[in-house]
Amino acid sequence: MKIKNLFGQQRRIFSFEFFPPKSEAGGATLEKTLHDLADLSPAFVSVTYGAGGSTRDRTIELVSRIQKVHQITAMAHLTCVGSNRTEIAAVLDRLVGEGIENVIALRGDPPAGQTHFEAVADGFAYASELTTFIRERHGHDLCLAGAGYPEGHLECRDLTADMANLGRKVAAGIDFIVTQLFFDNQVYFDFVKRARAAGITIPIVPGIMPITNLAQIERMTKMCGASIPTSFHAELDRQRADATAVLALGVAQATAQCVDLLRGGAPGVHFYTLNQSPATRMILAALKATHLA
Ligand SMILES: Cc1cc2nc3c(=O)[nH]c(=O)nc-3n(C[C@H](O)[C@H](O)[C@H](O)COP(=O)(O)OP(=O)(O)OC[C@H]3O[C@@H](n4cnc5c(N)ncnc54)[C@H](O)[C@@H]3O)c2cc1C
Repeated sequence: MKIKNLFGQQRRIFSFEFFPPKSEAGGATLEKTLHDLADLSPAFVSVTYGAGGSTRDRTIELVSRIQKVHQITAMAHLTCVGSNRTEIAAVLDRLVGEGIENVIALRGDPPAGQTHFEAVADGFAYASELTTFIRERHGHDLCLAGAGYPEGHLECRDLTADMANLGRKVAAGIDFIVTQLFFDNQVYFDFVKRARAAGITIPIVPGIMPITNLAQIERMTKMCGASIPTSFHAELDRQRADATAVLALGVAQATAQCVDLLRGGAPGVHFYTLNQSPATRMILAALKATHLA
């Protein structure tokens, strides 16, 4: 099933993002999470591509297993980091061979130790180039997503230039956008408004990460350039030592965000689950209770 065909068909699209586990224990946690979340009938799940392509085989295996065994439409993440055209073509062929119909085409972050992204010889410098390459090789056999940054990408804080670059990905052929995580819905609504004004009409799915661990989210937001509103951060900071309280605050914030986003016209929500199920389950239960899911 191509994800683009779900928009407009189902009322709202809920999806979950996972990463390929690194250890046996991580594998067991993910299995439990998949089991726990499968009965929430996500429209699709996605599997990340580790930094520098480090999880290439595990991403392909997991995305294919989720689709075959769990019978959930799955989307593979794919980055340009460290791979030339021939290597990317081989990954795409494997994905297509496994029956995967959905790919999110990404540039990826510069490898550790590098401050600027540099394309490898015969590789790609931007996600738009990867998108063009996929469209040339696979036509519309694949549904393609791209990343969007409501607060601007870390390397391009000029929101107008960043939006023009998003426009390049759309022109190259992405079918929908999934956003970077954010905690202030106004940045999403403003982003959608600016995208529409720039002539971008494809669906823009907000990416939401329920906070379950403060130190972890502080690290992540620093890396991806998302900001935590000051008052919310202060509230979390007061509860720093109390894991249960942090989880409760994270779930409350994410639930309120989802309610407001869906009421404000978002086509669905993509949950960054970090391979854990409790927070996402609680949020979706609340959305169901308010008839938003
Ligand atoms: C939903 C989502 C999923 C993600 N999944 C993964 C994952 O699985 N694995 C992983 O490693 N990373 C992942 N990332 C992180 C992503 O790889 C990084 O944010 C990366 O730095 C940018 O990737 P991109 O595809 O947005 O790049 P691009 O769209 O290529 O943009 C990168 C930068 O270049 C600028 N730019 C684009 N085109 C041009 C141009 N023609 N001229 C000048 N500047 C230009 C943009 O403004 C931006 O600053 C994900 C991010 C999101 C939001």
